[in-house]
Amino acid sequence: MTGSGFDASERVLVIGLGRSGRASCRVLRARGATVYAVDDKSRDELSDAIEEIAGTGAQFVAADALEPFLDQLTLAVLSPGIPLNSALVRRVQAARVPVYSEIEVAYRICAAPIVAVTGTKGKTTTTALIGTMLRSAGRTTWVGGNIGNALIEQTAQARPQDWVVAEVSSFQLESIRSFKPKIATILNISPDHLDRYHSMDEYAEAKFRIFANQGPGDTFVGNFDDPVVGALAWTEGGADRIPTRALWYARAPHLATALYLRQGRITYAPPTGDPRPIDIMPVDEIPLLGQHNVDNVMAAVLVGLAAGITPDVLRSAVRDFSPLPHRLERIAEIDGVEYVDDSKATNPSSVAAALSAFERPVVLIAGGKSKRTDFREICAAVTAHVRAVVLIGEAAEDLASALGDLTALRAGSMEEAVHTARSLAHPGDAVLLSPGCASFDMFESAEARGEAFRDAVLRSPVGAR
Ligand code: ADP
Repeated sequence: MTGSGFDASERVLVIGLGRSGRASCRVLRARGATVYAVDDKSRDELSDAIEEIAGTGAQFVAADALEPFLDQLTLAVLSPGIPLNSALVRRVQAARVPVYSEIEVAYRICAAPIVAVTGTKGKTTTTALIGTMLRSAGRTTWVGGNIGNALIEQTAQARPQDWVVAEVSSFQLESIRSFKPKIATILNISPDHLDRYHSMDEYAEAKFRIFANQGPGDTFVGNFDDPVVGALAWTEGGADRIPTRALWYARAPHLATALYLRQGRITYAPPTGDPRPIDIMPVDEIPLLGQHNVDNVMAAVLVGLAAGITPDVLRSAVRDFSPLPHRLERIAEIDGVEYVDDSKATNPSSVAAALSAFERPVVLIAGGKSKRTDFREICAAVTAHVRAVVLIGEAAEDLASALGDLTALRAGSMEEAVHTARSLAHPGDAVLLSPGCASFDMFESAEARGEAFRDAVLRSPVGAR
């Protein structure tokens, strides 16, 4: 049995010594718990992490030396990167130790209301924007989760009058128990991570867990236009699955939508009270490229309204928001060609979203490590205004066959890809890195891939076309 306070009564095993695992060690030790940490990696690989957690009083246990500790444990905390069905987790579960995801523990120690954001794409952008909105409204706001800071470290510091904004992945949602955000949103659900889930249904169900524990007084914000999320609103019995008030946004007004676009403006139709629509802002004030970012802004605005922020504060927070790095980030204009880094586009639907943000001809750099997704969606989005495609990485062949007749050149490195793209682009075009794949075949991360693109672009001599 576990105690309630994650305090001195607990003997906790932290599984995974990445950023979140180390944060769990720090927070739980600070609360007085006895903390052990385990990781599949070797002591040598983990030496810095082991030293760091030792400083907090947590003890590293090698995976093959875990057995004697298991029956002393009251609970285990699972880091976000580790699948629930990994061998290590199974061993811990077999010893009847309850396994909580880091976000579950973060929730249980949190004094403040939580806004939780999930979706296949747009999570980080929307999470950051909601954080900006709450801060603009004068609230102390702690932003964490997938976005970079371990959530547990944020919630540990939050006071009841503050807000926490959490970016959560489907993986983290799989192992929640009572995680109950005050406001939850699902931005979209499109094929991704099918290397980890058996089906789209299973992937969607993991995301739906974000509202599973919500109740009266909470709010769910959903994308009415998304075929999977919106179906909760349109299909018989779908809405009954959401155990709280649901607010929907869409690109056009519908009976069910609380926020929509009308004549180029984001408009709010309060679902209760005065039914007259309230103007929020014109879409052309949004400083982010692409219709998908209008969707992200609508989600954030509706969350902001649900959190009690006034429309004028929301509008100025959106206006002042800058695109985050590697998300349709403009890098440079060289010889009349604009270079845009969308390295964070790691699945086909984000490439489709990125391409639709351009009216000018595009030379697309795509490819990387495939996640077994279907590339036909990219193919459908590669319309006439794509001048050419330069393919990189392991998925190049799969992508090339999905692209059929379109000119698709191969490049062995980012440097070569940029060079080739540059020679194909005409003045007035854009060269867009939007890979539609993971980065791990050639780079350590999507960020590193974006940096390599930026370096290659900025290194290429002006006038070298
Ligand atoms: P996430 O955190 O979910 O990966 P980000 O905000 O980091 O999302 O954006 C990553 C990439 O996903 C962007 O570069 C863009 O290509 C794409 N993207 C962002 N928002 C959306 C959206 N609402 N729909 C489809 N694609 C999107």
